[in-house]
Amino acid sequence: MESRIDRIKKQLHGASYKLTPQREATVLVLLEHEEDHLSAEDVFLLVKEKAPEIGLATVYRTLELLTDLKVVDKINFGDGVSRYDLRQEGAAHFHHHLICIECGTVDEIQDDLLGDVEKIVESRFQFKIKDHWLTFHGICKRCKPDVEDGEV
Ligand SMILES: [Zn+2]
Ligand SMILES: [Zn+2]
Ligand SMILES: [Zn+2]
Repeated sequence: MESRIDRIKKQLHGASYKLTPQREATVLVLLEHEEDHLSAEDVFLLVKEKAPEIGLATVYRTLELLTDLKVVDKINFGDGVSRYDLRQEGAAHFHHHLICIECGTVDEIQDDLLGDVEKIVESRFQFKIKDHWLTFHGICKRCKPDVEDGEV
């Protein structure tokens, strides 16, 4: 079976870019930290362990390229830091985030869940939805253990 890195390689080739060793090291770091929301500096420090000769500017350019190709999304959780988040393959829309205001943990919701809301917005505002970023702020189950599973 074709691996994720091979498919990303094809995406790059399709846009006339090569998967250079530096780009490959950057993509591997993103894949290894799929659950995380790394800043360019975080990515740079991790890539440096694989490719010590790499510079921050190269990592930045690679991240911008991957953003253009929709391999990653560039997100900002309100702290002024751009973070890079791998897009789920085959997902039409971007996943949602739950940010805990107590411990700062960021969890992801991979299900879109917005079908009904999208229908209402599209018909009421004559607006074709292409994507959305949704971030919930609240208290996670680890910080508030008395919330029962399944309780709404
Ligand atoms: Zn995410
Ligand atoms: Zn959606
Ligand atoms: Zn928490």
